[in-house]
Amino acid sequence: MSDDNRPTGSTETHKTCCDPAEPSRRGLLAAGAGLAGGAMAGLPAGEAAAAGTSATLERLKRAERDPARRVLLKGGTVLSLDPQVGDFERGDVLIEGKKILAIGRELAATALVVDAGGMIVMPGFVDTHHHQYETILRGILADGVLGAPGDGKRTYQGVIQGVFTPVYQPEDAYISELVASLNQLNAGVTTTVDTSQVSHTPAHSDACIAGLKESGRRAVYTYSPGLGPASQYPKDLLRLQAQYFSSADQLLTLELNAAPNADNWALARQAGVPIICHIVGDRSGSFEAVGKAGLMGPDNEYIHCTQLNETHWKMIADTGGKVSIAPAIEMQMRHGMPPLQTALDHGIQPSLSVDVECNMTADMFTIMRAAFTLQRALVNERSLAGEQNLPPLLTCRQVIEMATLGGARAAHLDGKIGTLSPGKEADIIMVAADRINVFPLNNVPGTVVTLMDTSNVETVFVAGKIVKWQGKLVGVDLARLRRMIEKSRDGVLARAGYRSDLFGTCCAA
Ligand SMILES: [Zn+2]
Repeated sequence: MSDDNRPTGSTETHKTCCDPAEPSRRGLLAAGAGLAGGAMAGLPAGEAAAAGTSATLERLKRAERDPARRVLLKGGTVLSLDPQVGDFERGDVLIEGKKILAIGRELAATALVVDAGGMIVMPGFVDTHHHQYETILRGILADGVLGAPGDGKRTYQGVIQGVFTPVYQPEDAYISELVASLNQLNAGVTTTVDTSQVSHTPAHSDACIAGLKESGRRAVYTYSPGLGPASQYPKDLLRLQAQYFSSADQLLTLELNAAPNADNWALARQAGVPIICHIVGDRSGSFEAVGKAGLMGPDNEYIHCTQLNETHWKMIADTGGKVSIAPAIEMQMRHGMPPLQTALDHGIQPSLSVDVECNMTADMFTIMRAAFTLQRALVNERSLAGEQNLPPLLTCRQVIEMATLGGARAAHLDGKIGTLSPGKEADIIMVAADRINVFPLNNVPGTVVTLMDTSNVETVFVAGKIVKWQGKLVGVDLARLRRMIEKSRDGVLARAGYRSDLFGTCCAA
């Protein structure tokens, strides 16, 4: 890599914490104060309601019937990730209905007030690739790798796609989607791109969408291939679009999951939906072929992008393609080295994804730390070997941007989410900085990436609606969910002829 290939865009917009030439807080506070003054003009002054109790939750829930309700998150440490807004050591976020109305210091508004003291207030995380239908198979292939069905017992294609997936009924897909979504809401991941390859019948697709919808979460449903003769892929895309996605103003949006193929990509574009595909090497040459045919565009999201050559990367970069990297899974399962640095070298801000819960957790703290430590390990090793002109080490802020705005871009939702910005929808998390695993608070992005875990996720809003409050999901019967998913799991394993193996010595029928 030469200096000419240095990363651009967001990777160069933030200097390190201790650069005296970068008094970022002063500048950002000034920007924020200006915004607050302007944005708040015309709002009535005064506050309503006490904070921090179950009574507040009751009021929040009741207020949701009013599309013009206002909620003020008050006195938090605000990490907006929007350079126009800035960050605030102590600031407020005002929500009106489902949108963010204003961000600033000491906002005055008639609103239901939520005490954000001790909290970092920031955008919800966005996971850009998640096979949510596999949730009933959590951990079952933890020691496994990729590999064709004949490659051995512990391969993904052999066990997950070859043994379990074929026996899925629609209700198995539904409960998997629901539990995966609620679990990620609990972990502050307010949006996912669901890549459930289980559309064996139209009813399976309907069940996936039902689970996503019931969770109250934001999600991109990517219609994907299924197995067996009843699969209507890809033409059922048009029915799904008409039935569930006729409005763009909803939490669920639609994409087509399609390997590089001119006909399928044309169908997606005819329907006006973005395209997502897995790219792990290009042995068949189909990826390069669609590139050479001029079919790659900014509506493409490419998952993994491991084992690619310079031609591939140039095609992605030149056409504005989005990239999703699942660093923990790619390291664990032999996809190839996660191409974080390669993407940055080509001026691409990668997004982050969790991929499969049969092998790895779906929490973004883990995924962010995997990305952060991997990029630094590889660059550090080059530095120790004496190499000069190295790319910069990834910063915590950059990693958070990948896990929020980068994800929103990959999901084609950056007009709606990804930063705390006036006018965007209020997908907001409050993560507790007053806990023993993180106090005293000295560095906000550093705390989020290097110290926090899901136990710090205190309160979560999706489009202005409260879904997690003071550490607990709102209105979710966990015991019932567990009963349902265990029943479903038992059914799948029985139909697959698989005997339970809690201590992981075997993973095949
Ligand atoms: Zn995948």
